[in-house]
Amino acid sequence: MSEPVNIPTHWYNIAGDLPVAPPPHLHPGTKEPITADDLAPLFAKGLIEQELSTETNIEIPEPIRDVYRNYRTTPLIRAHAFEKALGTPARIYVKYEGVSPVGSHKVNSAVAQAYYNSIDGVKRLTTETGAGQWGSALSFACAKFGIDLEVWQVRASYESKPYRRFLIETYGGTVHASPSELTDAGRQVLADYPDTPGSLGIAVSEAVEVAVKDPAARYTLGSVLNHVVLHQTVIGLEAVAQLRAAGEENADVVFGCAGGGSNLAGLAFPFIREVLHERAATRVVAVEPAACPSITRGEYRYDHGDIAGLTPLLKMHTLGQDFIPDPIHAGGLRYHGMAPLLSHTVELGYVEGKAVPQTDAFAAAVQFARTEGIVPAPESAHAIAAAAEYAKGLTEPEVVVIGLSGHGQLDLPAYHAYLSGNLD
Ligand SMILES: *Cc1c(COP(=O)(O)O)cnc(C)c1O
Repeated sequence: MSEPVNIPTHWYNIAGDLPVAPPPHLHPGTKEPITADDLAPLFAKGLIEQELSTETNIEIPEPIRDVYRNYRTTPLIRAHAFEKALGTPARIYVKYEGVSPVGSHKVNSAVAQAYYNSIDGVKRLTTETGAGQWGSALSFACAKFGIDLEVWQVRASYESKPYRRFLIETYGGTVHASPSELTDAGRQVLADYPDTPGSLGIAVSEAVEVAVKDPAARYTLGSVLNHVVLHQTVIGLEAVAQLRAAGEENADVVFGCAGGGSNLAGLAFPFIREVLHERAATRVVAVEPAACPSITRGEYRYDHGDIAGLTPLLKMHTLGQDFIPDPIHAGGLRYHGMAPLLSHTVELGYVEGKAVPQTDAFAAAVQFARTEGIVPAPESAHAIAAAAEYAKGLTEPEVVVIGLSGHGQLDLPAYHAYLSGNLD
């Protein structure tokens, strides 16, 4: 365990710090750069400001820091036993977000999004969720700030992983399996593909549609957008300070899993800040599932964030708005696109992509559990697998940082399937 460091007072906005400005989001109708007015029916005012901001340091309001204090700072753990099992000269540090109330990094943005909606007087929020990590984080945050929440959960996860649905309900949220009969977008998909496992792209369309039709409601997204990435930088800001407190000057490589890109960007951007200001030469690896490889196999172009084309056009690595990935266990990584800010840093050469098959992810996660005790979320397992493979190939010591975005204690059926040879 490292020396204690302080909870950050400001989020870090890399958009204000990069040598080339990120491409703007475009209005889905006019194809012009999106304005704050365009986004007003969808998002809270404070979040829209952050989405469009180029200010480098954005202060974290006190009510948000107050909730952060419940579980931050999160630990940076030196994984001695894992290093030994791998036989690597690397010094491996794991930044562990599994200590949050719902067991993942998603709370970092959920609290901020619920707060900014509450100060706008919003009483009803809608959102999508995959495995249920985002839905449960937002349900907790909505309970804190007195907002009703409706969640569209990807059907594959709704049916196979009921525990996070129960968690969402425990905090007071309502859950619908997506695609649902409750929206035009859902009915359309069901008519065309009655047996669809669903996708995050479909669930986003449903949640957006409901929010836009109700003037008193707003929509929230658990990843991808600039403001979500911004909130997640508390992870990396702490990690940079904790690494120094542990006696390391810099990280050589940072690994994180990338679904929509928020936990990786949140961990990596403060490390990339060190690179931008020529204080370090840290490499960053975005690890994605082989079943949904947006960065390594997708195209970098403008695309919608959802299947129905209701969201702004985002310049990102995408497999296409109607791509429906196989129902792998890492539900949080089943998204066709990538955070535009992360895609932009890939294009500028600060981040590289790597795809990992799900069996490799579970093999590494089991080895990690047996050495370090923490059972990783199947999403985080992808980062561990890529980092382990890298560390095993080293002949000289390097400092390797892994983003452990969540724990997998509600994903144990997936571990059971892996251990009994039934991982599909
Ligand atoms: C949602 C989730 C992810 C994927 O989302 P990102 O925006 O890429 O971080 C990864 N890990 C966990 C534990 C998640 O809940």
